[in-house]
Order: sequence, then C-alpha cells, then structure tokens
Amino acid sequence: MPTPMLLRSLFIATISSNKFLLLPSLRILSFLAVPDRTFLFNVDRNPVLKAILKRTLYNQFCAGETEQETRACVKRLKDLGFKGVILTYAKEMVFDFKEGSANEHGTAEAVSVEEEQATDPDIEAWRAGTLRTLDLISEGDILALKMTGAGPTVTKAFSKGNLPPKQMLTALDTIAQICKDRNIQIIVDAESQHWQTGIARTTLALMRKYNRHGKAVLYNTYQAYLKATPDVIAAHMAEADKHGFTLGLKLVRGAYMASDDRALMHDTKAATDKMYNQIAHGALQQHLFGFGAAASGRPFPGLNLFLASHNRHSVLSAHRLHGQRLEAGLPTVPVAYGQLHGMSDEVSFSLLAQEGETPEVFKCTTWGSMGECVGYLLRRAVENRDAVLRTKDEFVALRREAVRRFWWS
Ligand SMILES: Cc1cc2nc3c(=O)[nH]c(=O)nc-3n(C[C@H](O)[C@H](O)[C@H](O)COP(=O)(O)OP(=O)(O)OC[C@H]3O[C@@H](n4cnc5c(N)ncnc54)[C@H](O)[C@@H]3O)c2cc1C
Repeated sequence: MPTPMLLRSLFIATISSNKFLLLPSLRILSFLAVPDRTFLFNVDRNPVLKAILKRTLYNQFCAGETEQETRACVKRLKDLGFKGVILTYAKEMVFDFKEGSANEHGTAEAVSVEEEQATDPDIEAWRAGTLRTLDLISEGDILALKMTGAGPTVTKAFSKGNLPPKQMLTALDTIAQICKDRNIQIIVDAESQHWQTGIARTTLALMRKYNRHGKAVLYNTYQAYLKATPDVIAAHMAEADKHGFTLGLKLVRGAYMASDDRALMHDTKAATDKMYNQIAHGALQQHLFGFGAAASGRPFPGLNLFLASHNRHSVLSAHRLHGQRLEAGLPTVPVAYGQLHGMSDEVSFSLLAQEGETPEVFKCTTWGSMGECVGYLLRRAVENRDAVLRTKDEFVALRREAVRRFWWS
C-alpha cells in the first residue's frame, strides 16, 4: 500500500474508531447528503467543501469523478495484486422505510402515464452512464449495477414486484450481451426491500438467458440479514435447476438496516453471521436448503459464488473450506471474494497471502460526481460506526504499519 494511501486510511480509521469524532462527522455527512442544498452546503457547487470531501472521504472510498480519474484508480487497485475491480456508477435512489419515500440522489416516485409511455430520459441517462462505466473496465473485471439509478418509472415497477419498462429491459439486454462478449461479469446489487422483489425478478430473467455453459455472466445479490433469504435462494436454485442455467449467487450481510423495515431482518448480528456462513459453506459443499447430494434427491444446480464481506472469519473460513474440498477431490463451486475500496484492506491482503491456490479477490469501487456519491459515502460511514470492533482492529493494524514505515525509514 503506497504511503499516502496508508496515511489517508489511518486518518479515516482514526475518526471511524472514535465515537466522539465519528458521530459529529456522520451528522455533518447526513446533512450534506440531502439533495439541493444551498450553495454553501452543496457538495458539487461549493469548491472549498468539495475539496475537503474529495481529499478525505471521496478519495478513500470512490474511484473518481471523471473517466480519467477512474481509470487511474482502477489501475492503482490492480497494481496492488487484486484479480480485478468491481466498478459501479454511483447514481441510485434510497428508500426510507420510516418516511415512506424515496430520494435520489433522486426523485419522488409519482410518475404520470404519459411519462411512463414516452422514451424515458432517466433510463437513457442510466444506460449511457452504465455503458461509460463499462468502457472503464476490461476483461476479468466486474460491472456492478444499481438498477434504481434508472429513475422513477423503473422504481415504480419494482415497488410493485414487476419487471421494469421495456426500454430498461432492452438496455439491460444490450449491457449483458456486451459483457458476455467482453468476458466481464455483472453483479446486480441488492437495494432497499421496497424494490428488491422486482430487482431479483429482473436479474433472474437475465440469468436464465445469459448464465449458460456453467458460467455466471450475472450475479444476483442476496442479503443474509433478511429472514426471507433462505426461501428466496431456494426458489432461485429451483429455477436454475429447472431451466438449466447457472445461478450467480453474490452473498452480502445487508446494508440497509438504517432505512429498511427492521422486522424483516434477523434480530441479532449473531443470527445474521450464522446465516451468512451457513449459506457460504452450504454452497461450497453443494448441500444447501434441500439441494445437493446428501439431500432428498434434489440435484444441486450450477452455481457460482461471490462472497462480498469484510468479515475476516467468514471469508477466511470459506476459503479454507474451498481449498480442503479441492484437495480432497470433493465437489464444490467456483468462488470469488470482494471488499469495498477503502475498507478492510487488511482482510483483502490476508486473503491474497493465503497459502495454496490464490483466491480471486476483487476491490469494489464507485465513480460519479460528489453529489452522486454522497449517499454511498454516508452508507460507508454508517457501516464503520456499526463495525466498532473491526474499525478498531483496522486502526491498530494501520497505525502499526505507519509506525513501522516512519520508524525504520
Ligand atoms: C463488495 C461488496 C459489495 C456489497 N454489495 C452490497 C449490496 O449489493 N447490497 C447490500 O445491501 N449490501 C452490500 N454490501 C454491504 C454489506 O451488505 C454489508 O453491509 C457490509 O459488507 C458489512 O458486512 P460484512 O459482512 O462486511 O461484515 P460485518 O461487519 O461482520 O457485518 C456487519 C453487518 O451485519 C449485519 N448486522 C449488524 N448488526 C446486526 C443486528 N443487530 N442484527 C442483524 N444483523 C446485523 C448488517 O448487515 C451489517 O451491515 C456489499 C459489501 C461488499 C464488501
């Protein structure tokens, strides 16, 4: 890790691991994340505010505001030894369960019939932004899609559990075909529950078409903190088995605790951890939710696993299990790992340093203007607040490394 990056990480970890510094910082960021602030508090228009945010939070967690900045960041990440990057365009909507409303980095949900029937400029902007994102990565990298970034006609369909309008389906089809031709995989991010049924339905339709011949071009994201996730995964495995496609299973714990309905989630962190590890290990053993050799006859479908997590125990135990099964000649599934840019570098580098077969590790980063990225930055800050132990460990590891470099130089 280059020294300027180490010092910036140490600065962020110092704030994240100290509640007296983190809580006021979070309040300021929440305030700035509200769209359409006046000049003084507008992160895109006030140059001083923008410069401060850019040098600190933005550069720590995001790739760049322009294509040129993003390309340079992607290269830097790959030079550190990662298999590739997962790149996403920041524009998204966030649904607040308590308020019962959505905001963009967005617009309200009401859409007139005329708007729905016309060529939708929001979908077109999302399609163009996604194609520009695709231009910034190359073979072996992954494109991450936040479907709600395509605006209100799409989110309106998703909130009813429907497929999005035809214009969006055509855009998705074009993007999937380009990715397949260029050997780039696609991850469809899981978002607020308000939209998730529609998002998953859309992704499943694309997987059915593109995930053929044992390889997942697309992954759907499953959130282990949701009580319903085992049923959703089982239903999607049944679909994969019935239609002969490979299920792309990206597993996360879930990032919307602050804004989604808490009753849908496990009551404790321990229960979420248990479910995460059960799904990861079950997939690697090809024995999950009634599917698999040892189960009552339901064949295990083709499945590619992607473990997105900063939890050291979860990723290292999965990697160990995968290695043991390969060594013993037991059936398993292909697996890759991902951590967010600017977070848990220690976990990413520990994975890369494992003995035996080098795991495929990706760093996931976001590009877009400061205004588009501020919601994403806020979620990362909240995540750091909630992961007190992990951020303390990270702080200690970074401080130790900084002292080592400056002491011995
Ligand atoms: C590469 C990558 C891609 C991601 N993509 C997505 C995505 O598409 N959609 C998405 O929603 N998230 C996504 N995330 C974020 C992810 O869901 C987690 O919020 C984040 O990674 C923290 O979980 P963890 O596994 O890293 O580790 P940990 O720090 O061990 O777990 C923290 C998580 O545990 C859960 N948790 C904490 N407290 C409780 C509690 N009291 N009860 C129940 N559960 C609790 C929450 O999910 C919390 O985020 C992504 C993360 C990564 C690394």
